[in-house]
Amino acid sequence: MLDDETPVLDNHLHLDPDNHRGIDAVRDFARLGGTHLLVVNKPSWHLGVEAETGEDFRAVFERTIEIVDEASSELDGRAWPVLGVHPGLITRLVDDRGFSPNDARDLMQAGIDVAAEYVESGEALALKSGRPHYEVDDDVWAASNAVMRRAFERGAELDCAVQLHAEASEDMTEVADWAEEAGLPAHKVVKHYASGRLEGPIPSVMSEKDRLETAAERGEPFLMETDYIDDPDRPGAVLGPKTVPRRVRWLLEGGHEDAVRIAHVETPERVYGIDTEGTLERA
Ligand SMILES: [Zn+2]
Repeated sequence: MLDDETPVLDNHLHLDPDNHRGIDAVRDFARLGGTHLLVVNKPSWHLGVEAETGEDFRAVFERTIEIVDEASSELDGRAWPVLGVHPGLITRLVDDRGFSPNDARDLMQAGIDVAAEYVESGEALALKSGRPHYEVDDDVWAASNAVMRRAFERGAELDCAVQLHAEASEDMTEVADWAEEAGLPAHKVVKHYASGRLEGPIPSVMSEKDRLETAAERGEPFLMETDYIDDPDRPGAVLGPKTVPRRVRWLLEGGHEDAVRIAHVETPERVYGIDTEGTLERA
């Protein structure tokens, strides 16, 4: 059973303070027993920001930090921001806005650098980067990998984790090796929207039963997420905000206490250095 001492963390979701449910989604999560959230900024263009310089991402990051503060006040635990540049931006820049892949790379790296300032000041917990999950030209792929490697460099300097949005894969050892080369340990790299098993980075498993069963039986570090996007144009494209607490209950009923502890206490501590038990005070 889900008791008052069990932290429940959704490792990756988005909240849109302006357009949709925002804080109501957090209340739904908390009512079902959710306690901690990692809130990732929405893609910049979803917030109407067509960045031309790294500084232009600040508006996106600041709005995310504000909604995270509001979210924390609704939780028995707390929320933290994860800030970065969505890898899909490169396609918008190159295909729609006339950027060369190298200019797009420079802009996105500048955005990562600005996100890193918020980690350095303690306002954000981790960085978000990655590469397109769809086919792109070789030069766009190379530029995207260069952006991701910049995030690894900043993560290494700041000793913070990097969440990745990337192609569907169960073997990303090459990417984890790039992180290690930059000085960032592989266990501080998290692949969001992961299946139940992954070589290389830590999988942040989409909270569908079959994926969770695989992760639970594997016994390796993992996290749970919904990628709830809070986007009125795409309802149901991802899982709802109540899903992680529901699936934690389901895992416990199935005898997977160890997996619940791995995903909600041990792995968050190892990846982000956060204490989900020490920051939990049930109202
Ligand atoms: Zn997402």
